[in-house]
Amino acid sequence: MSAAGRELLMKAVVFNRHGDSGVMEMSEVPVPEVPDGWVLVRVNGSSINHLDFTVRSGSAGIPVHFPHIGGCDAAGTVAALGRGATGYREGEAVVVNPGIGCGNCPACRMGEDPLCEDFRILGEHMNGSFAEFVSVPARNLKRMPQGFSLVKAAASPLVYLTAWHALVGRAGIRFGERVLVTGGSGGVSAAAIQIAKLFDANVVATTRKEEKADALRRIGADDVIVTAGEGWGKNYLDRAGINGFDIVIDSVGSALWKDSIRSLSKGGRFLNYGRTSGGHVSTDLSFIFWKQLQIIGSTMGNPDEFDTVMNLIFNRRLDPVVDRVFSLREAGLAQDYVESAGQIGKVVLLVGEDSH
Ligand SMILES: [Zn+2]
Repeated sequence: MSAAGRELLMKAVVFNRHGDSGVMEMSEVPVPEVPDGWVLVRVNGSSINHLDFTVRSGSAGIPVHFPHIGGCDAAGTVAALGRGATGYREGEAVVVNPGIGCGNCPACRMGEDPLCEDFRILGEHMNGSFAEFVSVPARNLKRMPQGFSLVKAAASPLVYLTAWHALVGRAGIRFGERVLVTGGSGGVSAAAIQIAKLFDANVVATTRKEEKADALRRIGADDVIVTAGEGWGKNYLDRAGINGFDIVIDSVGSALWKDSIRSLSKGGRFLNYGRTSGGHVSTDLSFIFWKQLQIIGSTMGNPDEFDTVMNLIFNRRLDPVVDRVFSLREAGLAQDYVESAGQIGKVVLLVGEDSH
């Protein structure tokens, strides 16, 4: 976007090197380009995701171009349409699907964008939404109903899409199954608890912090396991008098792996969408073949799933859990808060007048 040949600038939180949250600074950078078929969105709200600090610290191992703008989620209004972008008008309220495929390859044409060889995530492989404007393909937008909470909309996209794709798309959750959600207070986990309850599942959540148990029950967990050391899985199964869970949905990784695998019932499915405690695990294969387990990887979700899960949120069948709201300039503080696992659910950033 340019006016009279001059580059327009916007406020954004950027980092010029990897490191702790101290590397993030409010800066003025050019408003992003809007390629053909893309749309410029004025960001009013974003939110913090675990991905943000793995990209910032460099531990995600993804090469980024500095200065980099993080931020996967965006809710805002259409500011400008690129050539050939249709279906939206300037000023319309929208939310953004942060998973961006090329739009042309067989995977994208089948609607399976996360399988696209060029699949990118907003704020991870490209500049994101900790900024006044973000540029995304028109196919990544969804209209937001009038009067819907900006904060809840900004909190929703990545975590609900990830949880829906994992539980519904990948695990094929069936009504009434037993589901174990590890690391229950994280954003995806809170979404997964609610989605599993839509399927009338019996949902058990794990947490390391006893004081979070009540909040997890309020989100919808039928029971809570406080994980301390090994053996929590078997202890719970003995106590509950059950053989195991049909589904374990996990992004904690190595710290909970052993008990998670042993907690599965025969024919159970282990859904993994991350590895916050470490990605290297080992297991006795006898558990896998004898119990006929499935180990299933899951990343983000496809456009149809985004549409479905956002409709459930807009229709209030799913209710995003928002812990705290910060302003854009407090992005580093907000990331530290989430990284210290102090929150239940989502932490939102408001982008607007107060962020200057
Ligand atoms: Zn593609």
